[in-house]
Amino acid sequence: MSIIELAKRIEQSEHLTPAEYLQFAQDAPLETIQRLADGLRRRLHPDNIVTYVVDRNINYSNICTAVCTFCAFYRKPGSPEGYVLSFEEIYHKVEETITLGGSGILMQGGLHPDLPLEWYEELLTQLKRRYGIHLHCFSPPEIYAFTQLFQMSTEKVLRRLQKAGLDSIPGGGGEILVDEVRRKNTTKCNTDQWLEVMETAHRLRLPTTATMVFGLGETMEHRVEHLERLYQLQQKTGGFVAFIPWTLQPDNTKIGRKIPDRRSAEEYLRWLGMARLYLENIPNLQVSWLTQGIDVGRQGLHFGANDLGSIMIEENVITPAGAHHRATEELLRTSSLAEGFTPCKRKANYVRLEERVGLRA
Ligand code: SF4
Repeated sequence: MSIIELAKRIEQSEHLTPAEYLQFAQDAPLETIQRLADGLRRRLHPDNIVTYVVDRNINYSNICTAVCTFCAFYRKPGSPEGYVLSFEEIYHKVEETITLGGSGILMQGGLHPDLPLEWYEELLTQLKRRYGIHLHCFSPPEIYAFTQLFQMSTEKVLRRLQKAGLDSIPGGGGEILVDEVRRKNTTKCNTDQWLEVMETAHRLRLPTTATMVFGLGETMEHRVEHLERLYQLQQKTGGFVAFIPWTLQPDNTKIGRKIPDRRSAEEYLRWLGMARLYLENIPNLQVSWLTQGIDVGRQGLHFGANDLGSIMIEENVITPAGAHHRATEELLRTSSLAEGFTPCKRKANYVRLEERVGLRA
């Protein structure tokens, strides 16, 4: 089928087959993808709002039993550079975040080999009791590692964490949800295990995000397969609140010795737009200014994105691998306004926090 005919069917809100999306991703002009993704974004978010969050990525530990070729953050158990933050250190970081207008905490670690489940439960309980703040914590590889370490089902682990105060789950560790690619790059959970954690979370009414990392040596077919797996799970559960694609940051990583180049801005925008079109059943799409810079972030708002992510008061995982872009809340707001949108602060679960949005530049 011709690109013109595929474009027409997408415009009429038809969901294509994976093979048709692949053809479209490969052959459609960038302007066509941009026009369709922008049109869909305007249909999904007719109020013209661009959301963002003020939060902090607290990495409670860098000790990790997994090995990922793209990670410059982890240290092996026993390393003199390994750390576990004390509760007092975490409280201090949360208090600073609240002082800076933060609306939540994103907390993730390495896969620690022997912290007990009670440590995590006590931490969440204390954070909720002291600060009442939104707790967006523990990506699927961590939850899966808990099930192995504590010999419990995913549901039991999630119920216990939810009872202790967990509000939502970040979509980290998705990278490319195709085992052929994962096996070359990581020893953590596989595709089905990642998706099983998300499906269980959705069943327990824990909202989650989903992510994707371009540039791990994957093919376009792999990218389409990743989008298809997410699309299918979302059809079943409806629990993903947002999709967040970013590009591999190769500095100081093992994979960076093989693949030292970053994916181009044009390729990023093409796949950002494709993600908007493919995942029309996931309401929000975030553009990653952290890996692409604020200029591409602004362009992304015209390629289907309706969210600018977080100002990231603290970030320790992608930064050592080469993501050195920084933004303030003011920069995200003025960038949204400059592109013709109304900025609005949100929580990690994408609930908006400003009633009269856009009145503050
Ligand atoms: S990406 Fe996560 S799981 Fe992989 S090595 Fe780094 S900390 Fe461990």
